[in-house]
Amino acid sequence: MNMKLPDTGLSPSDKKVLAGMGASSRLPHAVLIEGAEPQARAGLSGYIACCAVCSSADRPCGVCENCRKALEGIHPDVIVYDPADENEKTFKVKAVRELRDRAFIMPNEAENKVMILRQADKMNAQAQNALLKIIEEPPEHVIFILECESGKAMLPTILSRVASFAITGKAEDSGDKLKAEAYPLAGDLLNALMKPTELEFMRLTAGFEKKPELFEPTISAMKEILRDASAKKAGSAIALTDNGGLIESLGAKFSLKTILRINDKLTEFEKTAKTNANKNLLFTRFSSILRCAAYNIKTDTRHNIQ
Ligand SMILES: [Zn+2]
Repeated sequence: MNMKLPDTGLSPSDKKVLAGMGASSRLPHAVLIEGAEPQARAGLSGYIACCAVCSSADRPCGVCENCRKALEGIHPDVIVYDPADENEKTFKVKAVRELRDRAFIMPNEAENKVMILRQADKMNAQAQNALLKIIEEPPEHVIFILECESGKAMLPTILSRVASFAITGKAEDSGDKLKAEAYPLAGDLLNALMKPTELEFMRLTAGFEKKPELFEPTISAMKEILRDASAKKAGSAIALTDNGGLIESLGAKFSLKTILRINDKLTEFEKTAKTNANKNLLFTRFSSILRCAAYNIKTDTRHNIQ
């Protein structure tokens, strides 16, 4: 029986990245899927699960016994947990611990074991910390897939250890255009952050005043590049962005701790940008606050983001 692989709903560039990882069996140990539609998230999880269990050379084939079982939802090595199935409103720490125990059992039929966690954003901090313990040092054969509506509910420590994929769908053309503009700018900003003075960085941030809607996509692009830099420092060969040279220089310039500190500041900016009406004030503080994080300078009250 020939089964159709689910539509991933990803942007063409993300699709290419994922196909590359699946084909070379270099899937990351933890993947985060963001998307508004539960069905679209499940579709992408199903696709990644096929990449992980497929027994063909050309992964995922969608037709081998492993793919077929995964697509039918009957593969013994593809474990799906949804708190809603247990009539739970939240994703409990107890469930995380049970999943952790199951993760350590070797796969039965496939090379890998896939743990799909639906509604992972319904975990409180305690549950997320329990999850963090597993994804920090996952068993070799396991791939965790965390599905959520928005990654913003997840702890930065979790976000720094997952490969994130956002389901963009078709309706977000303008978002895609902004993203295309945000990527090179994010690279320029990170390059400027490594310079001895903040002049170039400030010159670049001036552009946000003309185009404030570019601020948030640029921050997420910067975070993706930093995540690659921290993954590289931690010894992972998987890069999700196309920024080899920059990732190398960031890794050479900053310690892992510093990279995570810059990342945390970016997350704060992301949050504040959503609620703060006075964006211009945010843009003017962007440079000084990131510089303090990058060079571990004590911030004073003038440097509060809010
Ligand atoms: Zn297959």
